[in-house]
Amino acid sequence: MKKLPLYLAAALLALLPSSLFGQERPWPNTTVIGAMQNYNPKESDDFYTAVNRGWILGAKLPEGHAAISPFTERELQVDDEILALLKDKSLKGKDADNVHNLFDLFLDWETRKDSGIQELKKTLALVEGADSLEKIDGVLCGGKSLYMQGANFFTFDIGGDYVNNLKNVLYIYPTNLSLGDSKEYKELSPHGKNTKEYTDTITLFVLKKAGYGQDKAKKIVEEKYEFESKIAGAMMTLEEKKRPDRFEKIMNKVSILDLEKASEKFPIVKAMEALGLAKANRIYLTEPKWLKTMAKVYSEENLQILKSYLIAKITFANKGLLDRETNDFLTRTKCKRDGIELAPTEEAQAKNFVEDCLSTPLSKLYAKRYVDKNAKKRITKIIKDIIKEYRTILEEQDWLCQKTKEKAIDKLNATRIHVAYPAFWDSYNSLNILDAARGENFYTAVQKIRDFEFEKELKWLNKIGGSAMWNGRIFEVNAFNSFTTNSINIIAGIIGGNFYRPDMKDEELYGKMGVIIGHEISHSFDPTGSRFNKFGAMKNWWTEEDLAAFKKSAQKLIDYYNGINSLGSSRQSGQIVQGEAAADMGGVKVMLSLAKKKPDFDYKLFFESFAKTFAFVGTRELAERIINDPHPFNNLRVNVTVQQYDEFLQAYGIKPGDKMYLAPEDRIAIW
Ligand SMILES: [Zn+2]
Repeated sequence: MKKLPLYLAAALLALLPSSLFGQERPWPNTTVIGAMQNYNPKESDDFYTAVNRGWILGAKLPEGHAAISPFTERELQVDDEILALLKDKSLKGKDADNVHNLFDLFLDWETRKDSGIQELKKTLALVEGADSLEKIDGVLCGGKSLYMQGANFFTFDIGGDYVNNLKNVLYIYPTNLSLGDSKEYKELSPHGKNTKEYTDTITLFVLKKAGYGQDKAKKIVEEKYEFESKIAGAMMTLEEKKRPDRFEKIMNKVSILDLEKASEKFPIVKAMEALGLAKANRIYLTEPKWLKTMAKVYSEENLQILKSYLIAKITFANKGLLDRETNDFLTRTKCKRDGIELAPTEEAQAKNFVEDCLSTPLSKLYAKRYVDKNAKKRITKIIKDIIKEYRTILEEQDWLCQKTKEKAIDKLNATRIHVAYPAFWDSYNSLNILDAARGENFYTAVQKIRDFEFEKELKWLNKIGGSAMWNGRIFEVNAFNSFTTNSINIIAGIIGGNFYRPDMKDEELYGKMGVIIGHEISHSFDPTGSRFNKFGAMKNWWTEEDLAAFKKSAQKLIDYYNGINSLGSSRQSGQIVQGEAAADMGGVKVMLSLAKKKPDFDYKLFFESFAKTFAFVGTRELAERIINDPHPFNNLRVNVTVQQYDEFLQAYGIKPGDKMYLAPEDRIAIW
């Protein structure tokens, strides 16, 4: 595999004035390529950089990637395994046929030459031909295939009721905004500007492919923004959507009659009927203010901008299903956006696409061939040990009363443990992706999958249960906590590589897989997770006094993060990162608690293993794009976490005056 030597990129960036990096505090953001320059800190001043400096300087960006980390390194291993599955024609059965056919259809440029564009044009013609509001109604009420291609002014989700999480209910969400965050329509941020440039470039290109002239295409894009600007002010901002109190904000119970009244001419109820959604026993309208505004905007007078919004949206949603020229253009534009110099191969793109579209069938094949049963057993045992130790941490909290402690421990004990792959899989046997010889093309295949997923979700409306939360993407290098099922999920992808080897020393195992497991358990008690009880229902189990103390701690953490310049003079929002930051600290804390039981525990090896797990370096473009991610930048994930603990300060002899020092009264770990 060809790789870009990082020193080359670093050399280029080093020509920039150093003041560009100088505004970051208290530590320069060394997760960004070129930020290192001559910076060579001591462990006591910048632990993350001191431990990872050599790795960062030697790191090379693999093709198609804007960053490299131990997560990426493991992803590359898994990628090879998945590619082998996709090419192994000796695999038999429906799942294998479906993934093989989709993979081959992606790469079948001959068939893709015209078929996708023709299909897209057919859909666009429906919108184009609507010369009255009534005819737009017809498009919106045209059923699932049109809805799934992007011909809609609302989206929905069928999932557990947050309060009574056994029953599946219907959540109605506003339509998407192409700039992502409604805040961007007030004042465009540098981040929003990048998003706009990226989206516009692609939309204009694909519109041209679909037969629009340059001027008409530009007009469509302008009118799309005109429509979005009219509704954005009534929609939640990204930060509001990520706050721990977001659930009660969106759980606005409405009836079909309420929707009918509030929507005026906007045919949301008719569209829901056409989609089979109107039979929902319980409906939550997530943003009532949006519907009110949408009802006003949906008028004959706005016909043109409504149409342009739909055309731009459908174009963007189906951009990846067209011909080779479009595919090349998309790849180049995306690489430019993220600062990627080496584009991913077409084969890698096809693999990524199958992973996204048919994750469950592919996961099933992956589990069968690649997951080691012994590792699954051992990780399960390690998780049980860590959960047991977590009890000690909860018991030791002197700010909690006995009653809250018992409830917390009760929740902890009820944690469901999911390791590697699920016991049951959703069946994809009724999905039939054919090969090109039997008349299938890439666009129709994807449409079949979209329709299948739609029906699969719809089946659960008003019913108890649903797809296993972690049914798909077990090949992802990740782990997660599901609040609504009170489960922690350590999936197959992360069990391997740098994170887990059967022969690891305890200190390494603790600093890597141990901290990851501890992190996921801690999410159950982070500012959002702590709002859910042991059954996964959003019901308060805290005494009033303890909850107030908890919120005060969380606020201290938020304030601390709001005071950090993470990237240049830009900051990550403490509100947004609080959950992940708290989980990192909880993860290290529980492993330190276990470490106390090990004689001669090598604390330096433990902390270094942790710092290495989160080694990361990527392009500046990527850093700018992920600044609103709920995870703090990795240098902060390491430095802010370790500075909370005496074991760390002692192991490295850190004293007041050192940059890693944090006085006990200033510490922000919640647990
Ligand atoms: Zn997390």
